[in-house]
Amino acid sequence: MSDVREIKSDVIIVGAGLVGLASALALGHPRAGLGLKVSIVDAQTIDFSLAPEFDGRASAISRASKNMLEALGAWQDLETKAQPICDIVVTDSKLEDSNRPTFLRFDQQDNQQWPAAYMLENRFIRQALLDQIGNVKQISFYAPCNVNDFVAGSHLAEIILDDGKVLSAPLVIAADGRNSSLRQRAGLKTIGWDYGQRGIVATIDHERPHNGVAEENFLPAGPFAILPLKQPCRSSLVWTEREDIANGLMSAGDEEFDRELERRFGDHLGEIKRSGARWSYPLSMQLAKDYAAPRLMLVGDAAHVVHPLAGLGFNLGLRDAAALAEVVGEALHLGMDFGALDVGENYQAWRRFDNLTAAFMMDALNRLFSNNSPTVRHIRDLGLALVENSPAAKRFFINEAAGLSGKLPKLMRGSAAA
Ligand SMILES: Cc1cc2nc3c(=O)[nH]c(=O)nc-3n(C[C@H](O)[C@H](O)[C@H](O)COP(=O)(O)OP(=O)(O)OC[C@H]3O[C@@H](n4cnc5c(N)ncnc54)[C@H](O)[C@@H]3O)c2cc1C
Repeated sequence: MSDVREIKSDVIIVGAGLVGLASALALGHPRAGLGLKVSIVDAQTIDFSLAPEFDGRASAISRASKNMLEALGAWQDLETKAQPICDIVVTDSKLEDSNRPTFLRFDQQDNQQWPAAYMLENRFIRQALLDQIGNVKQISFYAPCNVNDFVAGSHLAEIILDDGKVLSAPLVIAADGRNSSLRQRAGLKTIGWDYGQRGIVATIDHERPHNGVAEENFLPAGPFAILPLKQPCRSSLVWTEREDIANGLMSAGDEEFDRELERRFGDHLGEIKRSGARWSYPLSMQLAKDYAAPRLMLVGDAAHVVHPLAGLGFNLGLRDAAALAEVVGEALHLGMDFGALDVGENYQAWRRFDNLTAAFMMDALNRLFSNNSPTVRHIRDLGLALVENSPAAKRFFINEAAGLSGKLPKLMRGSAAA
């Protein structure tokens, strides 16, 4: 890190999570079209964020997100690590049911856009994005650094870091996650609620191959997803559980935890063995009312947190990053001040409704499926049967999973943002 105390750039990004890193490339990588000078700040060191214990999750990456990662130069490193999702199976059963009949199945025959998504471990995505950033001299990294202050002026914003550095740029992007301090400093309010649930995450080795099948098992406490990883006999698990039960499970010994895991996993993949640690994440829905303030725009979880049952959060964040780069590119083309509030409002107009719709759809599905009432079960199983028997409905859902619906930013179509 240099000793310079005052650093000028075109854009400052606070937060080097997956969305912040992708935003840095979308704005700074010459191959993405803009080649702006970007400063990116994170409270944690890069080494810490790459450590195996940092994030045990794997993400479903939609086809549109894959296009974007390709355009940013990161997919080339990820291709060999990505497991295409070849088939999606939905079941709805009680915990004690030994047999879990398939209520809904999506496979290759349902759509041309196949595979609609890929599974990738987050640590690989983070590494691939960081490797690309390392190749781009316009992007500078400041970590570990906390933001002490954010001041929006008439032409420039300043970010004052806790080590005394002052970063200035016409635009600051808040990619600092669900508890975004920049969002709070700018007085941008959120709406939302806690689900009283946690998402338990673990990696499971199983005896029989997954054949690329992603399973969404709706159990009484909520969705229990078994997601195929690149190794044929390894899957990633996202197990939604009531908060008090999840806390008990997380503090239980390995034997008790694994016993409860086996009860839910079933025996269709043969014997199972957990590999490595277990993680648990709080689940909530949270939507920023506004995505823009003078010289500030929000992306990713800083703008919206959605239930992970359909694996959307990061995909939506990538779409934010792509749309923001395009809006900034258009402003630059017109010779406008790209950090001005009206440019932020254009970005907000593009992304807010899409994110709101996704969040409420996930909210409704979670409520419908985290419910053990026989009447509700009957209604939802009728709904699943309707979709199963409607090719048009299936095509709609696969297009959604592929991230190809709505106004698609250029980067998600695989071309440069500007
Ligand atoms: C169990 C689970 C499974 C999921 N599965 C999927 C999936 O399959 N597909 C999918 O698309 N999404 C999925 N998601 C959602 C996805 O993981 C998130 O939406 C995504 O990781 C959000 O990334 P982000 O970069 O916006 O925020 P974060 O990952 O929270 O990153 C924020 C960054 O900001 C930094 N930071 C915070 N405050 C400051 C500060 N003051 N100064 C400097 N830096 C700061 C932090 O250190 C961090 O690096 C899942 C979520 C959960 C909980």
